[in-house]
Amino acid sequence: MYDSHFLASDFAERVLSWFDRHGRHDLPWQQDITPYRVWVSEIMLQQTQVATVLGYYPRFMAAFPTVQALAAASEDEVLHLWTGLGYYSRARNLHRAAQQVVAQHGGEFPRSVEALAALPGIGRSTAGAIASISMGLRAPILDGNVKRVLARYLAEPGYPGESAVAARLWAAAEHLIPSLRANHYTQAMMDLGATLCTRSKPSCLLCPLAQDCRAHALGRERDFPTPKPRKALPQKHTLMPLLHDGQGAILLYRRPSSGLWGGLWSLPELEPAQPGALAQLARQHALTLGTPQPLTTLSHTFSHFQLHIDAQLIEAVPQGTCVAEGDWLWYKLANPPRLGLAAPVKKLLERASLHLTPASGEPL
Ligand code: SF4
Repeated sequence: MYDSHFLASDFAERVLSWFDRHGRHDLPWQQDITPYRVWVSEIMLQQTQVATVLGYYPRFMAAFPTVQALAAASEDEVLHLWTGLGYYSRARNLHRAAQQVVAQHGGEFPRSVEALAALPGIGRSTAGAIASISMGLRAPILDGNVKRVLARYLAEPGYPGESAVAARLWAAAEHLIPSLRANHYTQAMMDLGATLCTRSKPSCLLCPLAQDCRAHALGRERDFPTPKPRKALPQKHTLMPLLHDGQGAILLYRRPSSGLWGGLWSLPELEPAQPGALAQLARQHALTLGTPQPLTTLSHTFSHFQLHIDAQLIEAVPQGTCVAEGDWLWYKLANPPRLGLAAPVKKLLERASLHLTPASGEPL
């Protein structure tokens, strides 16, 4: 948890006085504030820009002006007015939650974060927003904007999706929210994140927190919050033999048109654990193989896995006339045909060329 000494005692004061001068005050859900109106706006704003929500919120509220009206509507009607906003489970949960508010709470939103968070589709942060903005309760929020502001202000090093990191940010949010004007403070923190402390271009010079923001002091605003750690990619290994005919040509084949490297020319790929595969390839093309020589190893990263290629140069003398059929060809290094080659294959051919072509430029 944070030592509260690090959290400036005038933090809220600065945020509030910035909000009074520069915050947004004219959004439709900031007028006639009720728990119902705030709730609908908060759900619509999840994963959705304010500008988009502005096109939906007034229509939705005109169709369902009260929680009772929403509860009584058919799901089709609700989804119809949500069409285009995406993430439709939000609309279904909104509808179900309205029915619960009517059936279980007499049409009044419960006045505690815990009870609000027990309704479908309402998490702790949304519950905090409803409780603070519409009821004035001292209930913190930690939506994406606030997370970014606090993670930067504190230079919090961890990924906020991790529970220990989230717990530290929640503790800070809890500590910083003032008893007075909790409603304006919540709105102010959202605005600060949305308009000043933006993801890629924070306007620190205009920010009321700049004087003691740790990320700003370090000049590392964009390093916080720590992004989601990338999952380790699965690792695959393959053996690519560069079968050369002793005349400077390498055996290639065309990959099927769909799938990885679709339609490109590639080297044969063999399972390293199947030593018989090479002999089978030689039989298939009537080749007499020499001793494999390690050429190089290289790694290539695809979006969903990493491929480690073990390349071997092997002399492969055709037993008859040197022809390749179908989707196979002998690729002449000194006079290469214009073909589509997978990037690592191109690199391997260049490497092979250095080995097989003497300084005079004449193929072996
Ligand atoms: S000083 Fe910059 S990084 Fe820090 S909270 Fe303000 S806008 Fe964000």
